[in-house]
Amino acid sequence: MTTASAGSAAIDIEAAGSTRYVAPDIDSLNVRMGPSTAYPAVGLLAPGAQVIGIPYAGWLQITDGPLVGGCVSTDYLTTDRPRAAPPVPCPHIVGRVTSDNQFANIRSGPGFSHPVVGRYAHHEQVTGRLVDHGPWVETERGYVNGGTIAVHATNPSSLNGRLPEHLLAPIPLCYNAVAYFEPAYTPDTPRYLNGAALAALHRLQHAFHRRFGHFATIDLTYRSYAEQEYWYDKFGSPRAAVPGTSNHGYGLAIDFEEGEEPGLYSWGAPGNHWLLTHQQAFGFHNPYAPTLQEGEDYHFNFVG
Ligand SMILES: [Zn+2]
Repeated sequence: MTTASAGSAAIDIEAAGSTRYVAPDIDSLNVRMGPSTAYPAVGLLAPGAQVIGIPYAGWLQITDGPLVGGCVSTDYLTTDRPRAAPPVPCPHIVGRVTSDNQFANIRSGPGFSHPVVGRYAHHEQVTGRLVDHGPWVETERGYVNGGTIAVHATNPSSLNGRLPEHLLAPIPLCYNAVAYFEPAYTPDTPRYLNGAALAALHRLQHAFHRRFGHFATIDLTYRSYAEQEYWYDKFGSPRAAVPGTSNHGYGLAIDFEEGEEPGLYSWGAPGNHWLLTHQQAFGFHNPYAPTLQEGEDYHFNFVG
């Protein structure tokens, strides 16, 4: 992760997270929901497994992949890269579908090219093992993108709008809409997404650019609790979600550019039609699409 603005070089290195490996001489290492053994275990790492995170009081808080937010004791980590990577770095992971009101796709294989064969419901528990370093998690019902599940809270709703910045990935400014709007957005305002959602967005943008000659421009992505309060005070329900219930609060929703007049992303327009046609191939879902003409034509959730 980059830190574009202030900070010394040392802080930049810290923000990027340091890479460690699970010590080779232990059976396995628990990943816990927080930085103490009092927190429940949410995953298991094999000896030699790579972890990327930020050191905190004897613990490393993971900043990359489906275990993001989870913590491992630095007592059992080493900086020495193992000679051979473990065949299953993370033999056990348990989390919950993060979204309050959407779902996570289940696919027949570990990638977006595999068909969707089912869904895990919002906040439903997902148990499985990580495929390589992720983001895909193999479960007994199929494969789930780890970006759709949270491991670092018993109740994912408690995280809504309150994700620390280091758990959010910065979106390239070239995806931004060239517009100024409330509460303080400019074309240069950094936007953030869940890391796996951003990886999926890059794939979508590559394809969109091939078709239209430019990126699909974005208004809003992650919103803090305070910003959601601003919109709720302004518009009320249902136009603005009650603070603490929007998928924007998890970095799992994208609003493509909207305007006073119908535009490229309005219902029926070429951009909107392309997004709806291809959304499943890139792991996104517009929950309003079945109504076509009602709801938010520009809003897409990351569902894996
Ligand atoms: Zn939205």
